[in-house]
Amino acid sequence: MRNRSKNIISKIIHIKGLVQGVGFRPFIFVLAKKFKLKGWVKNQNDGVIIIAEGYLKSIDSFIQSIKKEAPFASNIFSIETENIEISYFDEFKIVKSKNQSNEVTEISPDISICDNCLKDMKEQKHRINYPFTNCTNCGPRFSIIEDLPYDREKTTMSVFEMCEICKNEYTDIYDRRFHAQPVACNDCGPSYELILDEKSYFDFEDILEKTSNILKSGKILALKGLGGFHIACDATNENAVKKLRKLKIRESKPFAVMFSSISSLKEFAFINNEEEKVLHSWQRPIVLLKTKKELAFSISNGISTIGAMLPYMPFHYLLFEKLKLSAIVLTSGNLSDEPIIIDNQTAKEKLTKISDALLIYNRDIYNRTDDSVGFVVNKENRLIRRSRGYAPSPVYLNFDTEGIFATGAELVNCFALGKGNQAIMSQHIGDLKNLETLDFYEQTIKQFKKLFRFKPKLIVSDMHPDYLSSQYADKLDVKQLKVQHHHAHIASCMAEHGIDEKVIGVSFDGTGYGDDGNIWGAEFFVNDLNEYDRKLHFEYIPMPGGDKVTKEPWRMAISYLYSYLGKSFFDKELEFLKNIDKNKVEFLLKAIDKKLNCPLSSSAGRLFDAVSALLNICTYSNFHAEAPMRLESIIDDKVTTDYSFDINKEISFKSTFLEILNDLEDKIPISIIATKFHNTIIKVIFAGAKEIRIRENINKIVLSGGTFQNRFILEKVENLLKANGFDVFSNNKIPSNDGGIALGQLVIAAKRRELKCV
Ligand SMILES: [Zn+2]
Ligand SMILES: [Zn+2]
Ligand SMILES: [Zn+2]
Repeated sequence: MRNRSKNIISKIIHIKGLVQGVGFRPFIFVLAKKFKLKGWVKNQNDGVIIIAEGYLKSIDSFIQSIKKEAPFASNIFSIETENIEISYFDEFKIVKSKNQSNEVTEISPDISICDNCLKDMKEQKHRINYPFTNCTNCGPRFSIIEDLPYDREKTTMSVFEMCEICKNEYTDIYDRRFHAQPVACNDCGPSYELILDEKSYFDFEDILEKTSNILKSGKILALKGLGGFHIACDATNENAVKKLRKLKIRESKPFAVMFSSISSLKEFAFINNEEEKVLHSWQRPIVLLKTKKELAFSISNGISTIGAMLPYMPFHYLLFEKLKLSAIVLTSGNLSDEPIIIDNQTAKEKLTKISDALLIYNRDIYNRTDDSVGFVVNKENRLIRRSRGYAPSPVYLNFDTEGIFATGAELVNCFALGKGNQAIMSQHIGDLKNLETLDFYEQTIKQFKKLFRFKPKLIVSDMHPDYLSSQYADKLDVKQLKVQHHHAHIASCMAEHGIDEKVIGVSFDGTGYGDDGNIWGAEFFVNDLNEYDRKLHFEYIPMPGGDKVTKEPWRMAISYLYSYLGKSFFDKELEFLKNIDKNKVEFLLKAIDKKLNCPLSSSAGRLFDAVSALLNICTYSNFHAEAPMRLESIIDDKVTTDYSFDINKEISFKSTFLEILNDLEDKIPISIIATKFHNTIIKVIFAGAKEIRIRENINKIVLSGGTFQNRFILEKVENLLKANGFDVFSNNKIPSNDGGIALGQLVIAAKRRELKCV
């Protein structure tokens, strides 16, 4: 008999947020049973729909429990309920998904293997050492999704037919693998293949043995990861690391390292509670840590931090069990600056040239994701590369973003699209100057359009006419908006913190095209999301050779010296000048005099380049921002003194340079000079902020731009400003480098559209 009690009511519940592919429906099912509710739950593009019939009190408790007990990787954005007519269901059911509207729900990022699955790999008969073990709480997601809703047939798992046991788990609502789309086991799932000396091996035990021998003997292994290929070698073997550098044609940019466990990591790096938490989080990013004891020297090449991560795939755990090494280098599987390789065929063609063996598996990666990178400052994690584990989780904005497409910047590109009130950021794309990366960019835009049912109605890009992302925008027949680079940096941080008012925006950065046609990069704005007023900036210095200076920081050192001292700097005993051809220097000075290919720059990045070269730390740079990184790397925390500078209409560093030259003459150690210089920059930011606060009566200050990846400066500036009563905001979830530009562009466009300025 059906219960037709009068006290029974029915509600339709619509939950939006990250609720698919994270064990949400079985969670709802079990909860509904607990509260004796009837009805059903189903996925649709824009979230999860529940019909719940029962006593009002039970439904209320049910909704409270959803909020409180939701699966750990889920993220509920909203729960809307509405009373509806009762249908008198007999039971509570999970209903098959339907492709319904053009609204979409969040797509789960990839999740590192959970503790229960690690246990299953030792206990469940059909999963003993199975390297693709996963459940509703863990495993690949974004990397294998081709379309929505998130069902097995729309993932790259579709070609694997489940065995009876897996099917039973998959269909048993009380099982942890209920509707876990990538569910698989030794009998039915994807499998590994090792290619060594032109032979293939398929037995997994054999593969583990051989792979660990390859690494232990100092050889190099290319292996397929979660979002793309990696290249690995023993991190304690200097010869192996050196060889890898040579083969990868990567001269000095630090390599990431995977440690077998936190305890092995603690031997080699300093780590605090927050850093440990981030390393252990289900996103498992690379975290930059201060080096305690060196692994192989060539990993960081004299830079005092190490990019560390913990295992996140079943295979990583199994490998370390066998290896008994404390750490392996695990760097992106690509050639020089190309995107990380994701398919087996390309890996066979390209990676076998730089490795002794290739380890692949037969499931395709659909969406490419690199390892994410962050660091902890003032107890907060700051992402500087947002990819695996984070993308494509959206940022929620207080604006209608629908149809806005933000193309991003040129370096470390990332684009963003607007859906409803969300900004959906792409994974890290890379440097668009590279042809392969540009292909990856265009391909990913296509994939995102399909996945998120997106049609651009307004396209927003950087003012810089040479950016390939801006040129991409120009090609499209859609209404366009151009945004200033540093305004976008500040706006990215405002968007992240939900700020929509006038602030002091401090953008210290490398390069951004300015309104006056000069290169900007050290601005004090008073701005909101719509417009900005440039109140203060560094004085303009010529950039001899244009973009060449980023590869040859010595050029900036000469330019600063020449601007402040004329030719008299030749009389000084300067170490760095000894390595540079005198003719080249003379040529440079002539170019400056004649203003030949010498664009003017007010960039903080260029100032750091100049000082790094002047101290003879980095005169030629092998990778992006090497000069400032090396300058930061030699900081001596104990030094609290600084240099003088002048703030008038502009900020001049003439006295700074004169004092640095004196210190050099007095043979003061360069670590002290470098620290004094950093302290000077901190004082400059504080002085600028104070002056603007007095004049404009604004207390909120927003810091963004590549310079705030400098941990010393970020930490000290935040603390100094806070101690003086400022409300301080900086980037956390979104990179303060150009990887965050797209978010800033998107929110500026949304604001201007709301104000009807576009
Ligand atoms: Zn699991
Ligand atoms: Zn199976
Ligand atoms: Zn920038």
